[in-house]
Amino acid sequence: MRFGIKSLLAAMLFTSVSSSAIASEEVNVYSYRQPFLVEPLFQGFTEETGIKVNVVFAKKGLAERLKREGANSPADLVFTVDIGRLNEVVEMDLVQAVNSDTLNSNIPSQYRDPEGLWFGLTTRTRSIYASNERVKDGEITTYEELADEKWKGRICTRSGKHPYNLALIASMIAHHGEAETETWLKGVKANLARKPQGNDRAQVKAIYEGVCDLSLGNNYYLGKMLQDEEQTKWANAVNILFPNSADRGTHVNISGMALTTSAPNKANAIKLMEYLTGETAQTMYAEQNFEYPVNPAVQPSELVASWGEFKADQLPLADIAGLRKAAAKLVDKVAFDQ
Ligand code: FE
Repeated sequence: MRFGIKSLLAAMLFTSVSSSAIASEEVNVYSYRQPFLVEPLFQGFTEETGIKVNVVFAKKGLAERLKREGANSPADLVFTVDIGRLNEVVEMDLVQAVNSDTLNSNIPSQYRDPEGLWFGLTTRTRSIYASNERVKDGEITTYEELADEKWKGRICTRSGKHPYNLALIASMIAHHGEAETETWLKGVKANLARKPQGNDRAQVKAIYEGVCDLSLGNNYYLGKMLQDEEQTKWANAVNILFPNSADRGTHVNISGMALTTSAPNKANAIKLMEYLTGETAQTMYAEQNFEYPVNPAVQPSELVASWGEFKADQLPLADIAGLRKAAAKLVDKVAFDQ
């Protein structure tokens, strides 16, 4: 009987040893980014390292799921877009710091957390889209000018509360302070052609339809519209602008990744993080979604490069993360969405 229990224990031990041996050859990802974007990269990683990548895709709720699963979560990495969403997993205490020379040298410091809690993978500009019929070249070159009364009734945008706009407003606070940003935001609101609504592409459609002449939008939507038969005509109605390129630089946000607190396959997860910031993966990633590689050694795709060069704002995204709440308050205060 004793012997029986001993062998049972031995068998259990063996099971757990062998399952952790299998586990060491894999890495588990929770991804808000779509399969077409990340799957080719994970395949490349598996081919190079033999480490299998298991992915759970979702549009929302992954942070809540991580929280619920706690220490037992199988997830090693979270992939998401926008500094706001990366900051959310930090604030929920779901991620841990990574200290990697490879990551630190592949990613410029403004696009990673100073403590290593999140890392950028691709960058995207918050651009101005301008009607190529009704806005002359050089007629608007800065975000500040969106508040100029010459644009009265001529601007379209999605909600001021959307993470993309919150980060832009947070960057305005960082550069100008709250009081000046409030005045600016009031000015932009006074210039709106309609109540904030829809997504970034819907604003370009509105320019095409003559509802407005300027809109705010992330750069990759231009590529996505050009790829879509129905939306090509929207894209062809606008020029993409990179505001403030002549001074402090265009506001840039990221898609990124973070290592979970529970990470059962930590070493493999860090290997994957490093792989994704290297040249092969960066080239693939940026080409798939019309974004910019975060690694400055890698060039953007030909189409994206054809939209023009720009200077990026050097403000660390960690600072912007810290100002998002103040930005949201200003949006409410000036009743931007009403
Ligand atoms: Fe987007």
